[in-house]
Amino acid sequence: RHKEKWAATAPRIPATRLALHHFDASYGPQLGERWPAVRAALLCEHKYGALLNSFASAEHVAQELELHNAADFISEAARKAQSLLQVGAEKGESVSPEGHGGGRTVTPAGTPTPPAPIGSNIKCYTFPRGDITRFRPAWPDSLGLLSYYLMDAASLLPVLALNVQPDDFVLDLCAAPGGKTLALLQTGACGHLAANDVSISRTKRLYQILSSYVPKNVREAVSVTSYDGRDWAELEGGTFHKVLVDVPCTTDRHSVMETDNNIFHRRRTKERQMLPMLQLQLLISGILATKPGGDVVYSTCSLSPLQNEYVIERAIEIAETQFNITTHAEDLSHFRTLFQDTFSFSSDCRLGELVLPHLTANFGPIYFCKLHRA
Ligand code: SAM
Repeated sequence: RHKEKWAATAPRIPATRLALHHFDASYGPQLGERWPAVRAALLCEHKYGALLNSFASAEHVAQELELHNAADFISEAARKAQSLLQVGAEKGESVSPEGHGGGRTVTPAGTPTPPAPIGSNIKCYTFPRGDITRFRPAWPDSLGLLSYYLMDAASLLPVLALNVQPDDFVLDLCAAPGGKTLALLQTGACGHLAANDVSISRTKRLYQILSSYVPKNVREAVSVTSYDGRDWAELEGGTFHKVLVDVPCTTDRHSVMETDNNIFHRRRTKERQMLPMLQLQLLISGILATKPGGDVVYSTCSLSPLQNEYVIERAIEIAETQFNITTHAEDLSHFRTLFQDTFSFSSDCRLGELVLPHLTANFGPIYFCKLHRA
């Protein structure tokens, strides 16, 4: 009884503050002396990238962005990959084909080869490190399609890691509001794209994005559904070449900055504690939806190993023991080499890659890991 009375009169601690306390306790020890800088970045203005809309007739958009000193970080990385390849070729090293993971191989002599190139039609402009200029809002072309979509540029890394090849059947299991779905469409390579999200209201936002950015004939070919992603395998197992599993998570940046829809609100404690379980179930569902020989990319916008590497390790184990499916995590360290001018990466992920927010490059956090199904 005494406890009840205390609880009723206890001062309300905002969810953002609870989130910060929680992160201080867990990320402080995890990141050590890097935590104060990451913490400061999380509490400062988020940096955006402008994902260029290839469906809009926006000839002048790229020139205008470049005039303001923004650059397409993806073609910069592709150029970097190309020059590393040349250096490698001069040294007589060989590279694994990009269609199969695009990862590193090791020559018989044991020297790692340079990274394979990033093949993508996606263009995303960012301002240089330390430049905090904001993009002006996108404007419509003569057909009403918007010129670019503003998003955390690091969110494109999971899409690039998926490495969609011409005519691939692609599933975006947790798709809303649709930033990555739009990026997948910008590759121009999806043979079929299925975009699913359990939330009806968020699926409406996905429809809005599709209608603002994608011409009717292209968006009508995207199948949008609102199933619980955990049940996907029962509906369509083993049919996709590429599956993106961009799971609900503690959305660390949102949780320290916004009180609305904050997962650290006391009434959502149970939901928050159950997140790793939901993430695991969604990833397993994604693995089951993939064809043998296909790939799954798992991503979160959290720094938490419990929601990142642990989910990957557990999913690999369960896929093997319960479903007799062998998967292995691909080495994505070439992403660190290619994109280090734009993003700050953590160097201590056991599996996958993690973009750490930094005041001079305030993107992320974004964790991504690619699993190849044997
Ligand atoms: N991929 C999206 C993008 O780039 O715009 C963001 C996805 S957000 C991180 C996670 C999404 O998972 C939310 O929209 C949420 O509604 C959805 N979700 C949560 N539980 C789900 C479930 N059981 N099945 C499918 N989607 C789910």
